[in-house]
Formats: sequence, C-alpha cells, structure tokens
Amino acid sequence: MSQSSPDAFEYAEKFGHKPMKNHHAAESDHSAHRSESAIGELAAALDEIELLGWQELDGAFDLAASIEKEARAVSAVDLQLRAQLVRGAVLGSRGETAESGRILHRVNRWASDHDHRYLLARSHRLLATFFRQVGDLPAALENAVRGVEFLDESAPPVMRGYHLATLAGALTQTRSFDEARQRYADAEQIGEAFGNVQLRLLVLNNLAYMEHEAGEPYRALATAERMAALAAAHGIALDSFSLDTLARAQMRLGRYADAEQTLQAVISARTVLAVREVDGYAECLLTLAEVQRLRGATDRTRATLDECLRICERSDLRRIRMRAWGELAELYATLGCFEDAYAQYKVFHAEAMAVNSAERDARAHILQAVFETDEARRSSRHYRDLALRDPLTGLYNRRFVDSQLPALLRESVDGGAPLSIALIDIDHFKRINDTLSHDVGDQVLRTFTTVLNAGLAELFDADEPDPTAAFAARLGGEEFLLVLPGVDGPEAVLRLDKLRRAIRSHPWRPLTGDLPVTASIGVATGPGAGASQSALLRQADRNLYLAKNAGRDRTVGDPPAAVE
Ligand code: GH3
Ligand code: MG
Ligand code: MG
Repeated sequence: MSQSSPDAFEYAEKFGHKPMKNHHAAESDHSAHRSESAIGELAAALDEIELLGWQELDGAFDLAASIEKEARAVSAVDLQLRAQLVRGAVLGSRGETAESGRILHRVNRWASDHDHRYLLARSHRLLATFFRQVGDLPAALENAVRGVEFLDESAPPVMRGYHLATLAGALTQTRSFDEARQRYADAEQIGEAFGNVQLRLLVLNNLAYMEHEAGEPYRALATAERMAALAAAHGIALDSFSLDTLARAQMRLGRYADAEQTLQAVISARTVLAVREVDGYAECLLTLAEVQRLRGATDRTRATLDECLRICERSDLRRIRMRAWGELAELYATLGCFEDAYAQYKVFHAEAMAVNSAERDARAHILQAVFETDEARRSSRHYRDLALRDPLTGLYNRRFVDSQLPALLRESVDGGAPLSIALIDIDHFKRINDTLSHDVGDQVLRTFTTVLNAGLAELFDADEPDPTAAFAARLGGEEFLLVLPGVDGPEAVLRLDKLRRAIRSHPWRPLTGDLPVTASIGVATGPGAGASQSALLRQADRNLYLAKNAGRDRTVGDPPAAVE
C-alpha cells in the first residue's frame, strides 16, 4: 500500500501575468504586442499542463521544455520557471531525483529572492515530495506547510485541495494522524464542491493508506471502498496503486477472496505498462502472493512470487525483490520446509540490510548533490580563491573562466538553453600606452572595467533566472570576456552592441584627451557553434577579427544559420 504522489499539476492558476520586462519593447511597439499575446498563450498552455494528473505528467515533459524555451524568448521569466517546475516534477516521477531536486530548489530560490508567491507555493509543494523521496520527513513537512501558506486566497480552490493533500501526506509520514485527517477532510470537501473526481480519488487513496498506518483497519477499508465506488460511478479504472490500497485493506480484515479478486483486476488489465507503473504492478503481485498464502493457495502463491521476482529482476526493483524474498521464506514455512525457510530468511535479512544502507547512501548523495553544488558555486564565485581574480581590475581571470565555462556549457547543452560569450578587445590600445603612458593605460583598463561591470549589471538584469551565472573576466592585456548563459545569439549581439555604445560614449577626455576609447566585440553562441569551450572561444575570436577588419568599434556575431 502506498500513497500516490499528488504531484500532479492539477491546479489551474489564475495568476495575473503582467507582461514581463521585454528587452525589445523599447525598440518596437509591434514586437511588444506580439510578445504580449505570446505570453498569454504560453500562460494558458501552462495552466493546462499544470492540471495534468501524475499519470499523464510524463507526456508533458517535451511540451514543458518547449514552453520554457518560448517563454525565455519573450523574457517571461515566471512562465519559464513554471515550465521548469513541470519538467522537474516529471524528472522526479521518473526517478531522476537529484536532477529534479536541483530544478525545484533553483526555482524556489528565485521565487524567494523575488517574493513570487505563486512560484513559492508550487516549488515548496514539489519540494515536499522531493524530501519525502529522499527520506527527510521534517523537511518534507516544512515544505508542505509552506506550499499551503503561500497560496493566496485568489488561487483556485482545487489547487488548494491538492496542496492540502500534500500536507496531509507529510503529516501522515510524521505520524500526526489527526492533523492529517483534518487536511484530507478539507481537501475532500473541496473536491466535492468543485466536482473534481481526480482530487477526491487521490485523497481517498491516501486517506485509506493513512488509516492503515494509524492502525484503523475498519476506517481504512471503508475509505478504500468509498474510493472504489466513486471510481466506478464515474467509469474510471483505478490505477494499480489504488487497487493495492484497497486489496491490503481487505486482506487486513481477512477478506481474502475479495482482496484476490481486486488484485486480479490489475493482473488481467495489464497490457502495456508505462515504466512508472512497473513498480505498482510488482507491488500488487507481492500483495497477491501474500493473500494467496493466507488463503492456503500455496501453488498460486509460488507462481505469483515467481512472476513478481521475474519483473523485479527485469526492471531492477531491488526493494520489492527483497520483500518478495521475505514472502518466499514465509511460503516455505507455511509448507513446513523449515530449513529452506530459515536459509531464505537469512538471504532476505542480509538483502534488507544492504538495501537500507544503499538507500541511505543514495539519499545522502542526492541531498548533497542538490544543496551543496550551488553553495559551492556561490562560494567559489565570491569568496573561495583570490587566485581567480585579476589584480589590476579585480575581474575574474582566465583560470576562473577555465573552471566555470565548461560546466556552464554542459548545463546549457543538457538544458537546451543557449549560452553566448563575447570577446571584447580595446581598439588601438597600444597607441594609448605609447602616446600617453603605461600608467594611463592601466587607468583606462580600470575605468573600462567599471563601464563593463555597469553594462553587465544593466544588460543582464535580476529578472534572469540565474543572473549570478553571468560574469565578466579579463583574459589578458586589453582583452575581456563576457559569459551570458541563457542568452541566444541575436539577443547577445543586441545587448553587447548597447555595451559597445556605452563604452565609446563614456567621458574619456579627462583621461585620454583627444584619443578615443572604443572596443570591438566578437560574439559566439553555443551549444550550436561548438559544444566545447575552445571551439566557442575560437568562434568568438574569428568574429572579433572580422569586427577589427571591418574598421573596429563594432559588434559581430554569428551569421544566421543557412536555410536549405
Ligand atoms: P587592436 O585595435 O588591433 O586591438 O590594436 P591594439 O593596439 O589594441 O592591440 P595590440 O595587441 O597591438 O596591443 C595591445 C597592447 O596592450 C600591447 C601591450 O603592451 C598592452 N598591454 C597589455 N597588458 C597591459 C597592461 O596590463 N597595462 C597596460 N598599460 N598595457 C598593457
Ligand atoms: Mg586591442
Ligand atoms: Mg588585443
């Protein structure tokens, strides 16, 4: 028996989508209008996929990824992050817990920095499930509470129902059964009032599980039967997890024939199994074997256990296989084969220890992966090593670039997001050194850095999902590098050309007299231009060379891809 994951995106949100800051808006009213209507469409699409039940979640992955990309194109950061949360939830349901946790955590941090209540509510609720998966029950409870707290009154009631169900699940895990019961009752009422059968089924399944855990077998069975009746009344076939809940409640009260019949429905309905349903099916087989053994049908028990073990081997379900071995030991004992039973029990026991310790390690590993990488990145950025700074300008140096860029590039390849870099070289810098002095040259480099940093802050503003990932570095001499994760080629050229104009219009006269200070910029965008750091830098260098050759004081990016 298990709680179904309530991480469906069932709730439609009526969050008011203010048009987000649009980088093109100043240039063209027309494009602003276009973005606004695109934003409306994306929000509507998200409302819809957030409504999908967890069984359909898997199919929403690609859609969420494409919404994320389009939202980024129109600079609608909140929509981009909503889509990211959907992607994170799908990954979690596929068992990619660490990657899922990273996404949820990152969005949660952004939402908290920007005081974005809707994204806070959503990310906290999903994090509650993440923490339950990695076995940190207090953290699961804390996040579940916040998932409810951050929901505004304006949120759709059904959404509140799902958030309450998640909270009740976390309360069940911490064995606060009365508190859990209350939340389930509230959630069920919402489901009834708004005619949402999926919410009601989810609540009833999880409530039945809770009553079972609370040592209330009669309540567990009554609840599970209510669930079955509700599904039948609406022509809905219960999934394997819900049927397992019902069968276990029946078995617990000695209603073996009913339990076997309930499970038989799962076995015979099995046609094509979605990957995620394999463990639900294996779990049902295990329950069935137990029911059959309790009924004295030892031949059937043996056959069911064989089938269960076969599936566990094939799909690598170590924990269920371990429990099946325990069940096999019970079967031997029932048959009076006490030596076999004893040997099998020893195997089961050893495996149980091994599984528990492996799971503990895996959980610790995941928590570390999710919560220490960004800590490490932050501290490496700001405090860790002054050796990564250039002493003249205080900018990062080449060593820092080598330590960061490959990982950023990899992230952009994995996440399907673009990453642009720009090589910026001061024009005729030698002339400044030669005409004025090396000291003045140094001062120009420092002032140039100030303009660059101000430009970076302005061009890559805090609405970006991860503004801390953008940085400027001095590669050497009068050559600088800007790294702009999440910014595509045309957008990068647009932004950098603005920076170029800011450089030339800076009041240099007090420093350099009649000598102007300008820069040439070569932009390259990955992962298309090259997935490696060196390929990307080479491409930027080629474009810088073109800018110099074309007369300096200009920005050159990659030409648009040829259309066949
Ligand atoms: P271009 O427009 O083609 O880039 O011409 P340029 O004169 O800027 O390029 P070039 O590479 O010929 O000259 C760069 C000069 O920068 C040569 C070098 O002496 C000077 N330089 C390198 N590092 C420093 C520094 O830390 N301080 C000063 N003042 N000058 C430096
Ligand atoms: Mg130069
Ligand atoms: Mg140079």
